Amino acid sequence: RVEVVEETASTNSDVLARAAAGEASGLARLAESQTAGRGRFGRRWLAPLGGGLTFSLLWRFECGVGQLSGLSLVVGVALTRVLNRLGAPVRLKWPNDLLLGERKLAGILIELAGDALGPSAVVIGVGLNLLPAGDVGQPAAALREAGVTVSRNVLAAALLTELAAALGQFADEGFAPFQAEWQHWHAWQDEPVVVAPMQGEALAGLALGIDAQGALRLLTSEGERSVHAGEVSLRRL
Ligand code: ATP
Repeated sequence: RVEVVEETASTNSDVLARAAAGEASGLARLAESQTAGRGRFGRRWLAPLGGGLTFSLLWRFECGVGQLSGLSLVVGVALTRVLNRLGAPVRLKWPNDLLLGERKLAGILIELAGDALGPSAVVIGVGLNLLPAGDVGQPAAALREAGVTVSRNVLAAALLTELAAALGQFADEGFAPFQAEWQHWHAWQDEPVVVAPMQGEALAGLALGIDAQGALRLLTSEGERSVHAGEVSLRRL
């Protein structure tokens, strides 16, 4: 079920509210513009006027939230597949950014809807630049730069179709079928990076890729460490 609105504060907030009111799995809400789009840790998502694709998708799983580690990477894989098929050489930055070259093309924000116990419902938010986004606080890329001129409607349909298929497979088979493909699209394989937690010390090392749960394998001076996506940001060293 797809809804399109002219303007809203945040499609994620809208869909979270709908989930709380009992909405069934599979609702997608797209907005022409958002007045308070957000990213992780309360950061802002700024969409270029008329040239951004922003949507949120409600998905209900039968499993508990503990089984959902790797979900944001699955979403990244699904989006990256579609964009590469369209001719854009998009790569993934762990845990869930899409890059064109070294610049951010799209962000993913996954929020838990409702109870953390019992079956889990999530809202998957995607913001993607079709046109240049201007000054958004970090170098940003646009799909147009890769020569992709597909219409927003066609692109949204392709992304949602691929996402639904990937989420179905993830629900049935877990993260394992996605590990090698995520690794294939990894932007910074074997590159030096820094993992910066929201609190505490940054950790430097080589990005070795991901493990079977989707954690980042980081080769530090003290050996290999697994980094979980929760509260960290990744930068190039
Ligand atoms: P980071 O991308 O900095 O590693 P993150 O993955 O936590 O952090 P997101 O939650 O995906 O970030 O998105 C928020 C960040 O994305 C903002 O802090 C801003 O730097 C950047 N940003 C905001 N709007 C755009 C946009 N249209 N295009 C690219 N980047 C954007």
